[in-house]
Amino acid sequence: MIHFEGVTKQFGNRVAVDNVSFSIDAPQMVGIIGRSGAGKSTLLRMINRLTPATAGRILFNGRDVLSLKGGEKRRWQRDCAMVFQQFNLVPRLDVVTNVMLGRLNTHGTLKSMFNIFGKGDIDRALSALDRLGIVQEAVKRAEELSGGQQQRVAIARALVQEPQLVLADEPIASLDPMNAQIVMDALREIHERDGKTVICNLHTLDTARAYCDRVIGMRDGVIVFDGAPEALTTDV
Ligand code: ADP
Ligand code: ADP
Repeated sequence: MIHFEGVTKQFGNRVAVDNVSFSIDAPQMVGIIGRSGAGKSTLLRMINRLTPATAGRILFNGRDVLSLKGGEKRRWQRDCAMVFQQFNLVPRLDVVTNVMLGRLNTHGTLKSMFNIFGKGDIDRALSALDRLGIVQEAVKRAEELSGGQQQRVAIARALVQEPQLVLADEPIASLDPMNAQIVMDALREIHERDGKTVICNLHTLDTARAYCDRVIGMRDGVIVFDGAPEALTTDV
């Protein structure tokens, strides 16, 4: 379903991702591990076009996502939901509205600033919050929630996008162990129950071992390991 062919990203002279090729052929939960600066974040951000690739192709179900333009590019960005280390919520907005933002570009052109969301959007947002166990926080401002709760809001926002792919960039790096477990369980459930591919940048191998079917190890922009977590014995 997703296929990297010689994907490279250069920032000036610095090669962040160096001619990387790999495929994910069936829904999987994939963990990408490696030290800070290894290129994990850049790799994920090229998939949903937050960072433009310098060279190579990324195919999703046979389509080159790097050449999508306009509405097709926006549709692709909706299709790959992103979860960030720092949650990326709008702090002053209430929780349910933050979740509905995940539906924004499903509406195509906005007809009116005053009629952006419909009842269906509210229902979807509330049921996603319910699934994440935080529907009771729906009318609080996002900034009033703990980090763990905010990340669950971000996952609810990802869910209402009805994505094909979930990309999580260090989703638990800012969380305490208990919240980290809740967030990883939620991502794992999106894979198992909804059958989605989840690609997750992680900085600890233990987390990858506990949650992922497959681990891709990166160092200096290249893949140095790709396989079952049990097969990875040394640090990357
Ligand atoms: P992490 O290692 O957790 O990905 P970084 O501190 O490397 O975090 O990067 C944080 C942000 O700064 C990212 O958006 C990244 O793209 C950007 N960034 C990282 N390195 C550089 C750099 N050398 N010049 C400009 N921006 C950078
Ligand atoms: P990781 O996520 O594994 O920490 P990154 O993908 O953030 O790694 O970074 C890979 C390399 O690319 C690092 O050397 C980083 O400094 C560099 N880099 C990342 N983003 C930028 C940017 N926006 N501008 C310049 N260099 C960057």
